[in-house]
Amino acid sequence: MAVIPVALGGRSYDVHVEHGLLEQAATLARPLLRKQRVPVVADTNARRLHGDRLERSLSEARHDVSWFDVAPGEGSKSWNGLAQMCDWLLGEGVERGDHVLALGGGVVGDLTGFACAILKRGCGFIQLPTTLLAQVDSSVGGKTAINTSAGKNLVGAFHQPSLVLADLDTLGTLPQRELRAGYAEVLKYGVLGDRAFFDWLQTNAAAVLALNSDPLQHAVATSVAAKARIVAEDERETDDLRALLNLGHTFGHALEAETGFSDRLLHGESVALGMVLAARFSARTGLIGVEDAARVTHAVSAAGMPAELSALGLECDGARLVDHMRHDKKMDAGTLPFILLRGIGEAFVARDVELADVSAFLDEQL
Ligand code: NAD
Ligand code: ZN
Repeated sequence: MAVIPVALGGRSYDVHVEHGLLEQAATLARPLLRKQRVPVVADTNARRLHGDRLERSLSEARHDVSWFDVAPGEGSKSWNGLAQMCDWLLGEGVERGDHVLALGGGVVGDLTGFACAILKRGCGFIQLPTTLLAQVDSSVGGKTAINTSAGKNLVGAFHQPSLVLADLDTLGTLPQRELRAGYAEVLKYGVLGDRAFFDWLQTNAAAVLALNSDPLQHAVATSVAAKARIVAEDERETDDLRALLNLGHTFGHALEAETGFSDRLLHGESVALGMVLAARFSARTGLIGVEDAARVTHAVSAAGMPAELSALGLECDGARLVDHMRHDKKMDAGTLPFILLRGIGEAFVARDVELADVSAFLDEQL
């Protein structure tokens, strides 16, 4: 039984990481569900595969479920998608003290969370994450957002859920590639702050990816605990701590932008490759040894993700990738912070990185 509290100032919410949680959803959420009618926003794949278990639990507790379907894909995290959801929630009569359930991956979680942040100036929501990425990352920490024509996640709010139920059974239906991409964020927690967890993953990656019960629960719960610890200390990324979660993301963002945020490279895959690049760049500047960079590379390729930039066949140079980085929203007053390594498990924010060096480094890697 794993329950991880996320403590934020005077408030706190629990993240449950367990099998069979959707069957217990009504019981676990009972204090939060004041009305008979329960609004549930769902990714259509998640609903088709796992909606029955949730509906049964709520029906047995004499709730009526009202579903709002969200089409899979980033395109749903849009102004249009937000407007439709807000109109629907208002039509459902959702009030401030009510809770909306979000069943799906990061797309549904981010969109529902943002709608709930602004609906009646803030109503409650419960995350029921059904992808590995959502369970270890997006459902915890309260960042919510939609995409606009100017870029991803540029309009959003901090709005914490009241409860997160990460049902490990939902991962059984996830496509292999999505599972591996989510694993990149698991690996990230080891590389950024927990050498022992990184070492444990070296031995247990295959078992985690095979969804073996105990290793899977350990990996998800350890990841959630790492995120909870960081978010508790730096909810709004005002000091450098929460920024460490962006390890691999600045390099990764450039790769996502270059591949047009398409299926060619999933977010997690770009983060995994981004971590390899961050580790190699750290080795290049003498911060870590080449053996540690090789360990990170091996961890990524062993999990079945691309670990070599040259293998992507990009038709661009380092300067172009650096240009994409300049448009990253992490850019602050003209400088771009990079998350680099002093060792595995010892990430830090470097603010003095010369973009010309990054460009030359990427030319070597391409
Ligand atoms: P996603 O929500 O698009 O889901 C990926 C795919 O898996 C979709 O096709 C979906 O239909 C399908 N799916 C979901 N659950 C399934 C299941 N159990 N079985 C089979 N298929 C299933 O993607 P994601 O990777 O979960 O999330 C990515 C989003 O999360 C991005 O929009 C990203 O910006 C956001 N994100 C947010 C944060 C945050 O802190 N808020 C952090 C990281 C990522
Ligand atoms: Zn990420």
